[in-house]
Amino acid sequence: MNLTSGVIKTVPCKLSIMDNILVTESRRFVADHYHSAPSFKEQRHGHNWEIEATVGNGGLVRLGTVLDTWIENFDYSLLNEQVALKDRNPTAEVIAEHLFRHLEVACLCPIEVRVREKFHYWATCCPTNRQSSTCLARTQRAND
Ligand SMILES: [Zn+2]
Repeated sequence: MNLTSGVIKTVPCKLSIMDNILVTESRRFVADHYHSAPSFKEQRHGHNWEIEATVGNGGLVRLGTVLDTWIENFDYSLLNEQVALKDRNPTAEVIAEHLFRHLEVACLCPIEVRVREKFHYWATCCPTNRQSSTCLARTQRAND
Protein backbone atom coordinates (compact mmCIF):
# COMPACT_ATOMS: atom_id res chain seq x y z
CA MET A 1 0.00 0.00 0.00
CA ASN A 2 1.41 3.36 -1.00
CA LEU A 3 0.55 6.04 1.56
CA THR A 4 0.96 9.77 1.58
CA SER A 5 1.19 12.42 4.25
CA GLY A 6 1.35 16.18 4.12
CA VAL A 7 0.96 19.47 5.88
CA ILE A 8 -2.56 20.82 6.02
CA LYS A 9 -3.42 24.40 6.94
CA THR A 10 -6.02 24.91 9.64
CA VAL A 11 -7.59 27.82 11.49
CA PRO A 12 -6.09 28.52 14.91
CA CYS A 13 -8.35 27.84 17.87
CA LYS A 14 -9.17 30.37 20.51
CA LEU A 15 -7.74 28.82 23.65
CA SER A 16 -9.28 29.21 27.07
CA ILE A 17 -8.71 28.40 30.72
CA MET A 18 -9.98 24.89 29.94
CA ASP A 19 -6.86 24.16 27.86
CA ASN A 20 -5.41 21.92 30.51
CA ILE A 21 -8.42 19.61 30.21
CA LEU A 22 -8.42 17.37 27.18
CA VAL A 23 -11.34 15.17 26.26
CA THR A 24 -11.11 12.07 24.07
CA GLU A 25 -13.99 10.11 22.59
CA SER A 26 -14.14 7.42 19.98
CA ARG A 27 -16.78 6.18 17.58
CA ARG A 28 -17.05 3.52 14.93
CA PHE A 29 -18.63 3.57 11.53
CA VAL A 30 -18.86 1.35 8.49
CA ALA A 31 -18.04 2.62 5.02
CA ASP A 32 -16.64 1.55 1.69
CA HIS A 33 -14.00 3.26 -0.38
CA TYR A 34 -11.80 2.64 -3.37
CA HIS A 35 -8.56 4.18 -4.54
CA SER A 36 -8.06 5.36 -8.08
CA ALA A 37 -4.98 7.56 -7.80
CA PRO A 38 -2.34 6.68 -10.38
CA SER A 39 0.07 5.57 -7.67
CA PHE A 40 -2.52 3.96 -5.40
CA LYS A 41 -5.29 1.81 -6.80
CA GLU A 42 -7.57 -0.57 -4.92
CA GLN A 43 -10.98 -1.98 -5.77
CA ARG A 44 -14.01 -0.97 -3.71
CA HIS A 45 -13.90 -2.53 -0.27
CA GLY A 46 -15.24 -1.78 3.19
CA HIS A 47 -13.85 -1.17 6.63
CA ASN A 48 -15.11 -0.93 10.17
CA TRP A 49 -13.53 2.47 10.75
CA GLU A 50 -12.72 3.77 14.19
CA ILE A 51 -12.26 7.44 14.93
CA GLU A 52 -10.77 8.89 18.09
CA ALA A 53 -10.77 12.62 18.70
CA THR A 54 -9.05 14.57 21.47
CA VAL A 55 -10.12 18.17 21.99
CA GLY A 56 -9.47 21.00 24.40
CA ASN A 57 -11.47 24.12 25.12
CA GLY A 58 -14.10 22.44 27.26
CA GLY A 59 -15.13 19.93 24.61
CA LEU A 60 -16.56 17.62 27.24
CA VAL A 61 -20.11 18.78 26.64
CA ARG A 62 -20.20 18.82 22.86
CA LEU A 63 -17.62 16.41 21.47
CA GLY A 64 -19.92 13.38 21.51
CA THR A 65 -22.71 15.25 19.77
CA VAL A 66 -20.39 16.62 17.10
CA LEU A 67 -18.89 13.17 16.48
CA ASP A 68 -22.34 11.59 16.26
CA THR A 69 -23.43 14.18 13.71
CA TRP A 70 -20.28 13.63 11.67
CA ILE A 71 -20.79 9.85 11.78
CA GLU A 72 -24.38 10.17 10.52
CA ASN A 73 -23.05 11.54 7.24
CA PHE A 74 -20.42 8.85 6.74
CA ASP A 75 -21.91 5.65 8.18
CA TYR A 76 -22.80 3.04 5.54
CA SER A 77 -21.66 5.27 2.71
CA LEU A 78 -19.22 5.08 -0.17
CA LEU A 79 -16.62 7.60 0.95
CA ASN A 80 -15.69 8.44 -2.65
CA GLU A 81 -19.21 9.87 -3.09
CA GLN A 82 -19.04 12.16 -0.07
CA VAL A 83 -19.28 15.79 -1.18
CA ALA A 84 -16.82 16.81 1.56
CA LEU A 85 -14.22 14.44 0.12
CA LYS A 86 -14.88 15.31 -3.52
CA ASP A 87 -11.84 14.94 -5.77
CA ARG A 88 -9.78 13.45 -2.95
CA ASN A 89 -8.61 9.90 -2.50
CA PRO A 90 -10.52 8.95 0.69
CA THR A 91 -7.63 7.49 2.65
CA ALA A 92 -7.49 7.36 6.44
CA GLU A 93 -5.25 10.45 6.26
CA VAL A 94 -7.83 12.43 4.29
CA ILE A 95 -10.63 11.36 6.63
CA ALA A 96 -8.55 12.32 9.69
CA GLU A 97 -7.88 15.75 8.22
CA HIS A 98 -11.55 16.21 7.33
CA LEU A 99 -12.72 15.33 10.85
CA PHE A 100 -10.02 17.57 12.35
CA ARG A 101 -11.32 20.52 10.32
CA HIS A 102 -14.90 19.63 11.23
CA LEU A 103 -13.98 19.84 14.93
CA GLU A 104 -12.28 23.19 14.34
CA VAL A 105 -15.40 24.58 12.69
CA ALA A 106 -17.32 23.38 15.75
CA CYS A 107 -14.83 25.39 17.89
CA LEU A 108 -13.72 22.33 19.80
CA CYS A 109 -9.97 23.03 19.47
CA PRO A 110 -8.95 19.59 18.21
CA ILE A 111 -5.65 18.33 19.57
CA GLU A 112 -5.55 15.03 17.72
CA VAL A 113 -7.78 12.99 15.43
CA ARG A 114 -6.96 9.36 14.78
CA VAL A 115 -8.68 7.31 12.11
CA ARG A 116 -8.12 3.58 12.23
CA GLU A 117 -8.79 1.76 8.99
CA LYS A 118 -7.53 -1.62 10.10
CA PHE A 119 -6.21 -3.01 13.35
CA HIS A 120 -2.62 -2.40 12.27
CA TYR A 121 -3.10 0.78 10.26
CA TRP A 122 -4.25 4.27 11.22
CA ALA A 123 -3.65 7.94 10.42
CA THR A 124 -3.34 10.81 12.86
CA CYS A 125 -4.00 14.50 12.24
CA CYS A 126 -2.84 17.02 14.81
CA PRO A 127 -1.51 20.58 14.91
CA THR A 128 2.26 20.88 14.83
CA ASN A 129 1.90 22.57 18.22
CA ARG A 130 -0.99 24.05 20.17
CA GLN A 131 -0.20 27.62 19.16
CA SER A 132 0.32 26.77 15.53
CA SER A 133 -2.05 27.41 12.68
CA THR A 134 -0.93 24.34 10.82
CA CYS A 135 -1.96 20.74 11.07
CA LEU A 136 0.35 17.90 10.35
CA ALA A 137 -1.30 14.83 8.91
CA ARG A 138 0.88 11.82 9.35
CA THR A 139 0.56 8.15 8.84
CA GLN A 140 1.39 5.53 11.42
CA ARG A 141 1.56 1.86 10.87
CA ALA A 142 2.13 -0.85 13.39
CA ASN A 143 4.49 -3.67 12.59
CA ASP A 144 2.75 -6.27 10.46
ZN1 LIG B 1 -9.38 0.53 2.52
